[in-house]
Amino acid sequence: MVDRDEAWERLRAWSEEPGAVAVLTDIDGTLAPIVPTPDMSEVPAELKELLRRISERYLLVAGISGRKTEDALGLIGLEDVVYFGNHGFEILRDGEVEVIPEALPYLERVQDLERRAREELAPQGAFIEEKGITASIHYRNAPPEVGERSVRFVKAEGERLGLRITVGRGVVEARPPIRADKGTAVRALVEQYAPKRAMFLGDDTTDLDAFRELVALREEGVLEEILRVGVASDEGPPEIVSEADIVADGVEGVGEVLRVLAGES
Ligand SMILES: [Mg+2]
Repeated sequence: MVDRDEAWERLRAWSEEPGAVAVLTDIDGTLAPIVPTPDMSEVPAELKELLRRISERYLLVAGISGRKTEDALGLIGLEDVVYFGNHGFEILRDGEVEVIPEALPYLERVQDLERRAREELAPQGAFIEEKGITASIHYRNAPPEVGERSVRFVKAEGERLGLRITVGRGVVEARPPIRADKGTAVRALVEQYAPKRAMFLGDDTTDLDAFRELVALREEGVLEEILRVGVASDEGPPEIVSEADIVADGVEGVGEVLRVLAGES
């Protein structure tokens, strides 16, 4: 880790050679304050404007989120930002959604499971979210026995189809059985855009995969310099601060980092 003053110096130096820099960022909790339900999320106008100016000058600006890529685009609202979403399985650029090549062979099987869930579980009250390369079956608002049936059904189907099944709070999800997370998204973007320097801004556990991938890419000599910006919050994991080069105090603090990148302070 670099000294924290040194990290700010580095940020200023990067802003003078933006054509070699990739700015990669989480969205919820980093650019958009956490709100009671995800559909209430909003990126403040000031940050959107900073991102717009940064995206005009830098090699790459990418939003990396667990959300669907279209939702990520809706939040940031900039067409020339690249969006990596859906747990690292999808990328949206120039208006097109691409599924990562490693996951494509599983697309039909996920859709098969989704169709069966729509037939079997939706009539009982489960909500099947349209997600493409992953399938999410929500049962938070359904009777408990529908939740149990949903988990049983999706687990059995997932096993039959060779998909990975995860159970969350009120939701059971199916996805291709390959590694895809914010770390694999960071690596794919660095390989495609070939920046010399890359940074990631994040606030939560899944963002640590991105921090660690940056470190690996620097150790491999793929990147010359990296910066990890951790957004401090009461709910975030302690590593988001301890592994960061720069600690931002909430979304406000992220604004300071973006102002330096934009050459404004
Ligand atoms: Mg977040």
